[in-house]
Amino acid sequence: MTSWSNEDEIHTPIIQRGNGIAYRDPVWDHHARDGSLVLWRQQKLAQGKGKPVWMGIHFARLRRAMDRLLCQVCAQPAEDTERGTLFLTGNTPRGPIKDRELTTHPPVCLPCAAESVAKCPHLLRGFVAARVAEVRPWGVGGTRYVPGLLSSRPMPLPEPERMSYDDDRIGWMHASHPFVELLGCRPVDLTEELLEADLLQGAL
Ligand SMILES: [Zn+2]
Repeated sequence: MTSWSNEDEIHTPIIQRGNGIAYRDPVWDHHARDGSLVLWRQQKLAQGKGKPVWMGIHFARLRRAMDRLLCQVCAQPAEDTERGTLFLTGNTPRGPIKDRELTTHPPVCLPCAAESVAKCPHLLRGFVAARVAEVRPWGVGGTRYVPGLLSSRPMPLPEPERMSYDDDRIGWMHASHPFVELLGCRPVDLTEELLEADLLQGAL
């Protein structure tokens, strides 16, 4: 999901059309819309070319991982219909992952979770893990535009926002991140999961 230095964002003029924004170029516009017709930011595809960008996320790969429930590290299928798909959250002080919680981070497969822990053993203490029965698309994160006051050019708002697909203003979003809702969350102990799968020895 990391973006690479040759994967520049493609900036193309944005106009107001109906109750929302559109790319002026209809071909780009068509290409950039998801199944709910939300407009997505576009980046060149050149995975592995140049250098990985620190903290850089490739919008299309992130979306693909979330749509197909691919592991956020190795991009292999992470969905586990028997036990529930494994989601992890980072190391901020917080309680367990709650049912119906929203996230923009795709799931992770157990071998990749083990590898991450092997690189940074302190992560075991920081991670909050849950097995999730159902992952439902909720909305997008990105930049919201508003109608231009003096011209027909819509204006981007400075602060990033997240918005549900149900919101009437969704057509004004220039999306960069998918948000999904995690349903049927069961908190799990990652250490126990790795022990059970015999992955902890290699990890520590
Ligand atoms: Zn993986």
